[in-house]
Amino acid sequence: MILPPATLGMLGGGQLGRFFVLAAHEMGYRVIVLDPDRNSPAGRAADEHLCAAYDDADALERLAQGCAAVTTEFENVPADTLDHLAKFIPTRPNAECVAVAQNRIAEKTFLSDRGFAVGPFAAVTSAVQIESVDPALFPAVLKVARFGYDGKGQARVANVAEAKAAFEGFRGEACVLEKMLTLDMEVSCVLARDSAGRVEPFPIAENSHRNGILDVSIAPARISGAQAAEATEMAIGIAAELGYVGVLGVEFFISEGRLLVNEMAPRPHNSGHYTIDACVTGQFEQQVRILCGLPLGDARQHSRAVMVNLLGDLWYERDPHHAHEPEWSRLLRVPGLKLHLYRKHHARHGRKMGHFTVLGESGEPVIDLAMNARSALGIED
Ligand code: ADP
Ligand code: MG
Repeated sequence: MILPPATLGMLGGGQLGRFFVLAAHEMGYRVIVLDPDRNSPAGRAADEHLCAAYDDADALERLAQGCAAVTTEFENVPADTLDHLAKFIPTRPNAECVAVAQNRIAEKTFLSDRGFAVGPFAAVTSAVQIESVDPALFPAVLKVARFGYDGKGQARVANVAEAKAAFEGFRGEACVLEKMLTLDMEVSCVLARDSAGRVEPFPIAENSHRNGILDVSIAPARISGAQAAEATEMAIGIAAELGYVGVLGVEFFISEGRLLVNEMAPRPHNSGHYTIDACVTGQFEQQVRILCGLPLGDARQHSRAVMVNLLGDLWYERDPHHAHEPEWSRLLRVPGLKLHLYRKHHARHGRKMGHFTVLGESGEPVIDLAMNARSALGIED
């Protein structure tokens, strides 16, 4: 076991890394963050910020020498970086798991080969290949295999011609072509799995998106107990097949009543932010615990929760050219509301700047409170 006040390493300086730093600090650990952005939210909160590229030899040397173990907050850390660090210190999750989750072709192939239900898709690596895909895939979504997030690197395409044009638009990068599904609902399961294979799943969250970006998560999801159990079992099965050690987020579609895996994230997940305030142990504390070889915390949810993301767009409601701070007093006067701001340097459209979570005893009033707080701040439907 790695005990406080040991120093932990974090690859990536975004808000997920920042929450890790805060959780680690509460438990008495020190954290070194590696991120090339001088103003990264996690770097600013850390004990030490290595402002360098993910493959910078000096920075990796400092992590290997100065940290007892290292983890990551985003899936695009080069696999070589993780492999290199793993020679010196425990590195969780491992490079193989991250590699599967960071490439949509590898991810979808992994899932379907192992019998997890996914929607119909085809891997696309050339424009001519698009001509011979199953016509039943259309209308479809073309997604770049790597580096897409928050709906970026995706195009809705009605037919072969549109798919070819979109593929060229992505400069011929490898893609997956997915059938456009009718969605009854989107849900996710975040879980923590330790090196002995013990798992603590969090309750399933129900997610709604705007412009491809997570907007609201309701936990627990308004689905049947049987369907929640099925999603949880699938997420646990995926983690086991991967030999995953760490916190994993699995996104699902419910389409015509059926659960299909959409994608997975080898890290804490935005839809798991409700766990910070509504569960005995939040997803970031679990990440610290697994990294340090501590027993997993109790994932039980003690309050109903609704989480609302706060995007940079809010800063430009008053004036489209100049950022203005939203009227936080409208949120802060709600007693059951927990506001989290990530202290990002600059507000941008579509950028995740913060979130809030409303807690309560029963489901519907919590949803109403959260939706009222959301519109009081000026977020429109
Ligand atoms: P990312 O979260 O990495 O941007 P996703 O694949 O999760 O990418 O897509 C973002 C959102 O777009 C999904 O949560 C869903 O709302 C919508 N979407 C993606 N793929 C499909 C699909 N095949 N059918 C219907 N909706 C989709
Ligand atoms: Mg997604």
